Amino acid sequence: MNEEKEPLNFIEQIIEEDLKQSHSKDDLRFRFPPEPNGYLHIGHASSICLNFGLGLSYDAPVNLRFDDTNPAKEEQEFVDAIKRDVTWLGYTWAEERYASDYFQELYDWAVLLIKEGKAYVDSQSSEAMREQKGTPTEVGSNSSFRNRSVEENLTLFEQMKSGEAPEGAHVLRAKIDMSSTNMLMRDPVMYRTLHKHHHRTGTDWRIFPMYDWTHGESDYIEQVSHSFCTLEFLPHRELYNWFLDQLHDPKKLRPKQREFARRNLSHTVVSKRKLARLVEDGVVKSWDDPRMPTISGLRRRGYTAASIRNFAEGIGVGKRDNLIDVSRLEFSLREDLNKTADRVMAVLDPVKVVITNYPEGETEWLDSENNQDDESAGSTKVPFSKEIYIEKEDFREEANKKFFRLKLGKEVRLKNAYIIKAESCVKDENGDVTEIHCTYDPDSRSGSGTEASMRKVKGTLHWVSIKDALEIEVRLYDRLFTDASPDTHKDKDFMEFVNPDSLEVITGYAEPSVRERQVEETVQFQRLGYFAVDKDTTAEKMVYNKTVGLRDSWAKIDQ
Ligand code: ATP
Ligand code: MG
Repeated sequence: MNEEKEPLNFIEQIIEEDLKQSHSKDDLRFRFPPEPNGYLHIGHASSICLNFGLGLSYDAPVNLRFDDTNPAKEEQEFVDAIKRDVTWLGYTWAEERYASDYFQELYDWAVLLIKEGKAYVDSQSSEAMREQKGTPTEVGSNSSFRNRSVEENLTLFEQMKSGEAPEGAHVLRAKIDMSSTNMLMRDPVMYRTLHKHHHRTGTDWRIFPMYDWTHGESDYIEQVSHSFCTLEFLPHRELYNWFLDQLHDPKKLRPKQREFARRNLSHTVVSKRKLARLVEDGVVKSWDDPRMPTISGLRRRGYTAASIRNFAEGIGVGKRDNLIDVSRLEFSLREDLNKTADRVMAVLDPVKVVITNYPEGETEWLDSENNQDDESAGSTKVPFSKEIYIEKEDFREEANKKFFRLKLGKEVRLKNAYIIKAESCVKDENGDVTEIHCTYDPDSRSGSGTEASMRKVKGTLHWVSIKDALEIEVRLYDRLFTDASPDTHKDKDFMEFVNPDSLEVITGYAEPSVRERQVEETVQFQRLGYFAVDKDTTAEKMVYNKTVGLRDSWAKIDQ
């Protein structure tokens, strides 16, 4: 093991500096704060690995906090999915919290701010408020309601809360500075009224706190020491601090917001809102469709948790938003599956081979190692018989010297089985080969120790015994978008770049042992790639998703 430590990233440097200056190790506390308005995606994995990773390296608690302040978009289904995904990724939260748990506390604080003359009820239309806001180069102007009396503000705020005031009639705003250079400091809205059912508080609340008012105060309530968010929140930091300035009890820890870069993945979109459109418009079947960049879609596709964690760790945290090529995620996946996935045989584009000198009606059960590089993975028995399938593309009547597969008059080894020689073939009226007649060398069985079994032949093919093979449905996937960054085009909607051919369904034939594989388990179909059992599998029919192709195959194929 290399004992040398990796250099600290800038987030760790911030923490180390705080540990020197102001914080003790016991002060450290983090949180991952998703809004339950959709399923988690690969971008969230970066934030999850960052926060929970810090928790592990500093032995500090990490809360899972649902930022559930918008009843219009949030649902229990999403809460459940988020918990499942974080757990599957291998992390454990200290406490499960909800911003909605703090509605009363936030409300009480808001009342305090009103009493101190630091917040007021504005009853203008949203257009009027927008006009008064000014621009980055032009100061804003004060609302005519800015100087309402404390009593009037308290009465109106109470009416907003009880639902007595009509939806949208008023908002509560912080009284800060309409001429601030930071637009977010120009009397930001703290509460709006919404007469909608909330997934947790039902109809108890008719006012809902805005993000800026909720987030920092939730961090404060939970005594989160470091609140990491993505770069777009950098200008919000001033407001985050302003709110804390008004409430912070010096005896308590004061949370700190720091920002890191958003991670985007090529050939897809990582935004819950956009992913929701793909589901709603029927481009994909569900949030966990194997083509989706959601954690649940990747899991269903056959991704392992380790491969996603390694990917997130590998790209690390950055200070600038960037696009990560999807091949990097696939690389991380192959690296993990190569170590962990069992090898089995399946034929996806079959042609029949008859071994003319093999006894009729006989079946031999041959040993097949689950992983040639890992003896502890054990082995499986595969049936061999007179009629087998091989891939169509593994046979040619004639080919040059570099074609190390089956051709007339030449030999190949059948993986785990015998050396066969192609003698003749049968063709249909189109000239397509429908059957290949071969002979086999009975002494050449793999692992039998005979001289013939050690004989080197150039090519090795995978195969399945026809009478024993399991017919399976195989779903092959291509990229969901034809463009590397579909949502960055100024005058085009990302939906215009949807790849119409992202799914192909075929029938394949697999060795019978695959019947025992569990849903989400990924195996390697030798020479073809990695494939995972889909949850659509029934007692009658197994369904496999192609997870990812192999970079290399073990036979010296091609020309
Ligand atoms: P979306 O637009 O997909 O809803 P979001 O940022 O609004 O993204 P949240 O549920 O608020 O989603 O995110 C929870 C946490 O995950 C936040 O701290 C957010 O900054 C972080 N996060 C979201 N997307 C990414 C991303 N692509 N890369 C890194 N972190 C992300
Ligand atoms: Mg969001």
